[in-house]
Amino acid sequence: MSTLFDKIIAREVPAEIVYEDDQVLAFNDINPQAPTHVLIIPKKPIATLNDLSEEDAALVGRLPLVAARLAKQLGFAEEGYRVVMNCNEYGGQSVYHIHMHLLGGRRLNWPPG
Ligand code: 5GP
Repeated sequence: MSTLFDKIIAREVPAEIVYEDDQVLAFNDINPQAPTHVLIIPKKPIATLNDLSEEDAALVGRLPLVAARLAKQLGFAEEGYRVVMNCNEYGGQSVYHIHMHLLGGRRLNWPPG
């Protein structure tokens, strides 16, 4: 099933893209929860973390690499930041195409709600 993020990958829905390679896309969240709030997604449509298989390990491993690269570029790598992946209803997932949230630019609270 096609999701919003497939449409962003296909440029059918506009987004502020901050990083792209052949396997990964990153764009600003439309409802930012921090001064920087980027969503980092594989272009491969995987619905939830529960749907990952061993063959996806290298692909999904690219998501934190891109997060750290962006944090360095944006200048908050040293002060710190957070990456989050939500899974299913209780985890707060609303778009069923796996994505890593990158939140930075302010002190973040713990634990989350
Ligand atoms: P989730 O709740 O699934 O972990 O995260 C989905 C994220 O997608 C939310 O943070 C939400 O603000 C973001 N989002 C929803 N619709 C759009 C949109 O049309 N464009 C962008 N850039 N982000 C969106």
